[in-house]
Amino acid sequence: MKDKVLIKAARVVCPGSGVDAEMDVLLEGEIIKDIKANIEVSQDMTTINASGFILTPGFIDLHCHLREPGFEYKETVASGSNAAAKGGFTTICAMPNTNPVMDNASSIQSLLDKAEGQPARVLPIGSATKNSDGKELTEMAEMVEAGAIGFSDDGNPIASDLLMRHALEYSSVLAVPIIDHCEVPGLFTNGQINEGWVASRLGLQGIPAAAEEQMVNRNIGLAKLTGGWVHLAHISTKESVESIRQAKKAGVKITAEATPHHLTLTEEAVLHGPGSGGMFEPLTEDAYDTMAKVNPPLRTNVDVEALIDGLSDGTIDIIATDHAPHAATEKLCPMQEASFGISNLETALASALSLVHNKKLSLNRMIESITSSPALILESSSLKIGRLSKGFSADLTLFDLNTDWLVNADQFVSKGKNSPLHGQKLKGKVIATIYKGQIVYSELNEDLVSV
Ligand SMILES: [Zn+2]
Repeated sequence: MKDKVLIKAARVVCPGSGVDAEMDVLLEGEIIKDIKANIEVSQDMTTINASGFILTPGFIDLHCHLREPGFEYKETVASGSNAAAKGGFTTICAMPNTNPVMDNASSIQSLLDKAEGQPARVLPIGSATKNSDGKELTEMAEMVEAGAIGFSDDGNPIASDLLMRHALEYSSVLAVPIIDHCEVPGLFTNGQINEGWVASRLGLQGIPAAAEEQMVNRNIGLAKLTGGWVHLAHISTKESVESIRQAKKAGVKITAEATPHHLTLTEEAVLHGPGSGGMFEPLTEDAYDTMAKVNPPLRTNVDVEALIDGLSDGTIDIIATDHAPHAATEKLCPMQEASFGISNLETALASALSLVHNKKLSLNRMIESITSSPALILESSSLKIGRLSKGFSADLTLFDLNTDWLVNADQFVSKGKNSPLHGQKLKGKVIATIYKGQIVYSELNEDLVSV
């Protein structure tokens, strides 16, 4: 491949620069050199005929779990980065719940070293407290200097109000968010799925919506008190969305994310998909799908609709995957023993596009929520990403809006094959991913590329 790459005639959708039009994009080295209606082909360029495809900035995921160090049997930085590339993501942010926990500057540096040469940019999220045990804050300034883009004890909330207050006070000086997994742990015991009729029907203990909502409200209160920035991870309930909407109206500095699964699936996925069993119908033999066990749990249709509305109007800022790969044995077991989490870097685009195909979300807002909106949250990193403009990083995703495909989790590049979407038909597929000017993933027909 040549140093210059010209992508011809794609429908360029770049919400960050307000573009939705057929255009040519020229890359040179690691940056975007030019973007306009017609760029002349010349001998020194690799040319891609992208007519009929949609070209966007490379997707940015603010929340994933790469499991390295400590849980390499679930995922590694390499396998996770390759899964990202296949899913159209060129920037992914890794949560610190590894072993050891990423709670100091050298562990941040070590992740960045491992990410060197991978097909996606990996940005570290540092642990907010030492060993993520919620007792003592980490050395945040040193970690930001080493490259941390935010702090979180994800998997757990920062339960102590005082510690959260202090975390917000420090982070406000550092201009990075405290990313909180909103859950009041004391409100339930041994919860497996959403507290509702499916849990009752299956005889499982539930996780109530209030466990999230109460922590969302606490976090809003502390953001107001401190002026610090809380980013609310994987929001799942209607009341949470409403609280965030009101807080934003009042000028509180908060941002929020929703995952592809919370935006598209309900608790009925545990019964192996909606429509596979009503409240009073006999259970099918599949009615116990541990692949749909995730924290926060999949909720109800009312919650899903509220999340989509929240994403549409900007109350929810971004879509983040919460990609949580696990080994087969951690899911092929009784519900109470199964791990929480869904492997979804490779299905995220198609899940999100289902909202577009169902006319619940505009294509522009959907793309914005995985490109320029997360780029805003990463502003402190001063990376030029999330937009197709001259001088920005040559990170791009090319996809087909209408290709139907069957999810086969066994073919995931991710080590985590844990997907409740296995066997389902989705619409919309990544065709090529370009990271820093290099094609890192491609399903392009050879005749569309001239080298
Ligand atoms: Zn979480």
